[in-house]
Amino acid sequence: MTYKNFPMVSKVIFGRGSFNQLEEIIAPKRNGRHAPFIYYVDDVFKGNHWLTSRITLSYKDKIIYVPTKEEPKTSQIDTLVEDIILEFSEKPSGIIGIGGGIVMDIAKAVSLMLTNKGEAKDYQGWDLIKNPAIYHVGIPTISGTGAEVSRTTILTGPERKLGINSDYTPFDQVILDPELTKDVPKDQWFYTGMDCFIHCIESLNGTYLNAFSQSYGEKALDMCKDIFLNDTLDTETAQDQLMMASWHGGMSIAYSQVGVAHALSYGLSYLLGIKHGIGNCIVFDHLDEYYPEGVKLFKDMKSKHGIELPKGICEDLDEHQFDVMIDVALSLEPLWENALGKKWQKIMTRDKAKELYQKM
Ligand code: NAD
Ligand code: ZN
Repeated sequence: MTYKNFPMVSKVIFGRGSFNQLEEIIAPKRNGRHAPFIYYVDDVFKGNHWLTSRITLSYKDKIIYVPTKEEPKTSQIDTLVEDIILEFSEKPSGIIGIGGGIVMDIAKAVSLMLTNKGEAKDYQGWDLIKNPAIYHVGIPTISGTGAEVSRTTILTGPERKLGINSDYTPFDQVILDPELTKDVPKDQWFYTGMDCFIHCIESLNGTYLNAFSQSYGEKALDMCKDIFLNDTLDTETAQDQLMMASWHGGMSIAYSQVGVAHALSYGLSYLLGIKHGIGNCIVFDHLDEYYPEGVKLFKDMKSKHGIELPKGICEDLDEHQFDVMIDVALSLEPLWENALGKKWQKIMTRDKAKELYQKM
């Protein structure tokens, strides 16, 4: 047995208003006036003075607003990297991602691709990255994905939706400022929050579970229950706790894996462009066979917050489209092995996967 030896975020700061310390945190990382800091900022913050006025631009530093209607593509990363190479004479001093999972994944991927030759699609997979990334900082503005702590950046490429998983992917610095999440719309708060809840359920019920994953997963699950089911927390405490639940959920899957919901959700996302948070919710709603207690809790949370999920999304699909989704989902072997054990292929047949998709 060889155990995974995995890297973690090197530095992290937590607290309401800690975003104000960004400038002093990154200043020592500046490599001269020609090496800018590039800020990728979720375009929901465009014109939002409350946030953007606190970003200090010096020399050639630049803010690039990122649309987040669609999840990141490998070709998009290649273009962003090319833009930087063409515009600046030197490599950036740092890449800073301010936003949800999409923007954080873009920041990670760009920082990796600035120091690794070729196209982003060449690195989708496990441990294909050769060179350390540019200094990169993650600042979540919505809680749940665990992207702030993970060693992956999830990208859709020409052939697959798969992360660039590597020891160089985790952020060098993370700023956890729960105040930044104050304006997240309720439905999005639920979908992204449920990503965290589902990470916990899939990790805690997986065959890869160990004490390391369990310790983080149980804590995150308890926090999710307090936030989404019990009315015991005030708004600010709930924001603080969800930010930490996201972190712990991410730490839990770091040493185990996700499971059935994520695998099937990747299929939906690849074919239909359905985003991660809501896609996981759509799938998880139908997984009582695999996660009975988790699905029951999920349904309680859904009804408590009056969340209506889309229905009939697979109704009009043809055989070929089902095949594409099933191919994407079933290619994620570690997820299935974690969820269903080494003989997962006997349980999750193509017919079974199709039957599940047909319910959604
Ligand atoms: P997101 O990045 O898609 O953002 C969701 C929406 O919330 C966007 O419309 C955004 O504009 C809005 N938003 C974000 N912060 C806001 C704020 N403070 N106020 C108002 N609106 C705000 O959502 P997400 O669920 O955080 O991320 C999903 C992405 O993360 C997917 O691309 C998924 O593949 C990826 N992901 C990555 C990992 C990882 O480990 N790298 C893990 C899980 C998911
Ligand atoms: Zn997830």
